[in-house]
Amino acid sequence: MTRRDTDALVIGAGPAGASCAIRLARAGWDVTLIEQSVYPRGKVCGECLGAATLQLVDELGVGEQLRALAGPEIRQVGWMTHTRTAVAEMPACTTGSHRYGRAIGRDTLDTLLLECARRVGVTIIQPARVQAIRGVPGAFVCEYRRRSGEDRAEPAAAVATIFAAIVIDAHGSWELAPAGIDSERHLERSKRPSDLLAFKANFQDTALSPGFLPVLALPGGYGGMVIADRGRTTIACCLRRDTLRECRQGTRGDGAGAVVEAYLKSSCRGVARALDGARREGPWRSVGPLRLGFAASGSPGVLRIGNAAIEAHPLIGEGICMALQSAALLAGALQSKPARINERFISGCQERYERAGRRAFAWRINWAQCCAQMAMHRSLATPLAVVMQQWPRALTLAARLAGKAQSVVPPARAAGESHEYA
Ligand SMILES: Cc1cc2nc3c(=O)[nH]c(=O)nc-3n(C[C@H](O)[C@H](O)[C@H](O)COP(=O)(O)OP(=O)(O)OC[C@H]3O[C@@H](n4cnc5c(N)ncnc54)[C@H](O)[C@@H]3O)c2cc1C
Repeated sequence: MTRRDTDALVIGAGPAGASCAIRLARAGWDVTLIEQSVYPRGKVCGECLGAATLQLVDELGVGEQLRALAGPEIRQVGWMTHTRTAVAEMPACTTGSHRYGRAIGRDTLDTLLLECARRVGVTIIQPARVQAIRGVPGAFVCEYRRRSGEDRAEPAAAVATIFAAIVIDAHGSWELAPAGIDSERHLERSKRPSDLLAFKANFQDTALSPGFLPVLALPGGYGGMVIADRGRTTIACCLRRDTLRECRQGTRGDGAGAVVEAYLKSSCRGVARALDGARREGPWRSVGPLRLGFAASGSPGVLRIGNAAIEAHPLIGEGICMALQSAALLAGALQSKPARINERFISGCQERYERAGRRAFAWRINWAQCCAQMAMHRSLATPLAVVMQQWPRALTLAARLAGKAQSVVPPARAAGESHEYA
């Protein structure tokens, strides 16, 4: 008989991995979740959750805790260029239980989800890094290595193995995938001038209005800022590699964070005003480059969710929603545990999941692409700001098209397997 330590092994405890683990454990699966970082940990992210995301978090059972901690409701959206700021009402979600989104730090959100996974019986191995996946669908072998926690003097642990029937890849998009998991979106690592590199920092005592979410239209990039939990303001942006290189010329070896902050202030007066007298909390973090698109399947039988499968321009702030939604779609496709978890069962689930995923994510990926192009080119962004100042409803409509006023149908109501926008 084949050895099996766990039914489902999930790699990575971001929103995708932790939420999928919670859903599967509740459906009766024995789940093991491996995460390489010690929590709480920060992350490059704009940290905005739309109304649909709040609904998905409610389904997981941590909505109340999250709302007690999160920043104010995001009721206004903006389009900020060098000298202009268009302001409009954020469209309210008229279905579901939340009208507006909120913002919350990833250190808090991801910890809430991981603790929930622990409570529902998921086995958590942390900090440990999955290094390789071998075997076949129904009988995978995962190799992982425990990492030292806070104690750097701890000796490196030996490689351990765990046997699992299914493997769910939720490792995100910033790390190389473990050996044995193809990831065509991430294989190509050559540097291109148009690559988008992502940055984020938190500030205290900014002059940004609570509940206001301006999109920053930057030549060669885009960004956003918002007040999140504990009164801190999150600023996140993506900049083209060649733009960053230009910004660095003439600086005296300043770090990328300092260069990015100076660029944001000089290319958007609204940012300079918001940060006047503010205090940065911690360093600028960076990741990248972004690898955009949707690829739900890779190696045979390995199921992918979250950023490992889908990445849209973060300008529309829907990444966490898509991570949670892809996890819900996959859990819906797997449903309750069958008597035999074999290749046929897994490939059937994979097909259902891919079909539902394409339906659910294609529009947002395309609309995000369109918005990103409009924001990154001054010749488009500035005239758009003039139009939006004149007709703020155009900006409200753009936010609506990004999914800000939509709710998601819980899987049970959505014909058993799909999890679509209402
Ligand atoms: C600049 C920027 C701004 C953004 N702003 C927003 C926003 O405002 N709102 C929004 O909804 N989304 C936003 N996003 C997108 C959002 O951050 C992602 O979509 C989201 O983090 C995806 O979640 P995930 O669980 O798939 O991956 P991640 O959150 O990346 O989690 C993956 C986890 O896997 C772990 N891991 C990786 N490799 C291994 C391994 N081998 N073994 C064990 N563990 C491993 C990592 O440590 C990590 O914890 C933004 C992204 C960027 C870049």
